[in-house]
Amino acid sequence: MPGTVTIAGAGIGGLTAALALARRGLSVTVLERAPALDEVGAGIQLSPNASRIVIGLGLGEALAARAVVPEAMVVRSAATGGTLATAELGAAVARRYGAPWWVIHRADLLAILAEACRAEGAIRLETGVTVTGLALEDGAVRLGLERAGEPDHLTTPAVIGADGLRSAVRAALGDGGPPDFRHRVAWRATLPMEAVPQALAGGRLGLWLGADAHCVHYPLRSGELFNIVVILAADAPVEGWRAPGDPAVLARRLAGWPAALREVVARVDGWQCWSLADRPAWFGPERDPVTLMGDAAHPMLPFVAQGGAMAIEDAAVLAEEAGATPDNLAGAFRRYGARRLARVSRIQALARRNGAIYHLKGPAALARDLAIRVMGGGIVASQDWIYGWRP
Ligand SMILES: Cc1cc2nc3c(=O)[nH]c(=O)nc-3n(C[C@H](O)[C@H](O)[C@H](O)COP(=O)(O)OP(=O)(O)OC[C@H]3O[C@@H](n4cnc5c(N)ncnc54)[C@H](O)[C@@H]3O)c2cc1C
Repeated sequence: MPGTVTIAGAGIGGLTAALALARRGLSVTVLERAPALDEVGAGIQLSPNASRIVIGLGLGEALAARAVVPEAMVVRSAATGGTLATAELGAAVARRYGAPWWVIHRADLLAILAEACRAEGAIRLETGVTVTGLALEDGAVRLGLERAGEPDHLTTPAVIGADGLRSAVRAALGDGGPPDFRHRVAWRATLPMEAVPQALAGGRLGLWLGADAHCVHYPLRSGELFNIVVILAADAPVEGWRAPGDPAVLARRLAGWPAALREVVARVDGWQCWSLADRPAWFGPERDPVTLMGDAAHPMLPFVAQGGAMAIEDAAVLAEEAGATPDNLAGAFRRYGARRLARVSRIQALARRNGAIYHLKGPAALARDLAIRVMGGGIVASQDWIYGWRP
């Protein structure tokens, strides 16, 4: 049936796309490998370019009730503990970009997206179904599936691979192989705010820059939780690309860091480590009714905090194009990929560059710190091209 799409993956990208497509009159089936919709117990920043899209989908009230609007972003030197720059976020961002800068627990974001999808008659959301492969047949797509351990299949007019960094859809389109490990491992945790020393508690987003390491932290859930991510330079990925972290390793690597930060790090119970990777942006073949989005299309390092935001932007552009020509989804997908490629590639490159700059040492770090001091509160406004984007 024209105007019918199957999405592989019910992450932030797949669910936002399902909702945006349904609002444009398409029928959507979402197939998710996991038996239940779940996310890592960590936060995510939603910058205004992303928040304005989910607000446009009618989720503003639900998200605002679960999100925190950080007052400011404070950039500090891990060597001296000194503040390099403070950029206002709350009201200043809303004024400049017409949408908020939110930080939200991933489980809350996913639950709100899933609930909106379930309330939409044109969306069918199935969990416990893994996409294992695909083949093109007479202008339609035959998806190989695994359901309850048994092979199955589905023939559908069009497919969107929203199945993340190790996308089965991307592999089935001929671009398999592992993503490129970028010599960084992220250590993630949340802890109760009352366990956090006064110097770091509160409503601000913190970024600490150190030699071969940096740290980002912010409040979650009305300030009840403290979300912390420490990124360390690493020679090799952790086992399975995701593994529990040994706190002794982290304590050793952050030995020279300011006391308040070491104190927080010592209080965490249960670090989760993620190997960080990216790969060149690719949206799939240009003639067929199959495309990719989010991390499946353009995984990126998290050093601009834009991976999820780009998946949300993808969803908005996909829906615009598919809504314009629902009976020619191959054409819609081609136009969507053409509109997205330059922007996502530029952000991938910026994330890699930030990854290098954040971890500088010696005189290069001093020069970086001076440059950040000069920029001061303008560090956010200097990225208007990211945050001011509209579909
Ligand atoms: C440490 C860290 C911090 C980050 N911080 C931010 C931030 O602050 N802001 C931001 O915007 N981004 C951030 N990101 C990036 C962001 O998390 C990702 O870009 C985003 O989650 C990508 O969403 P997605 O839906 O494309 O993919 P995913 O979230 O990976 O979702 C893919 C879904 O597909 C399912 N799936 C996989 N394979 C199959 C299959 N074969 N069949 C069916 N289903 C399948 C998975 O189970 C999953 O549900 C961060 C990333 C990291 C690692």
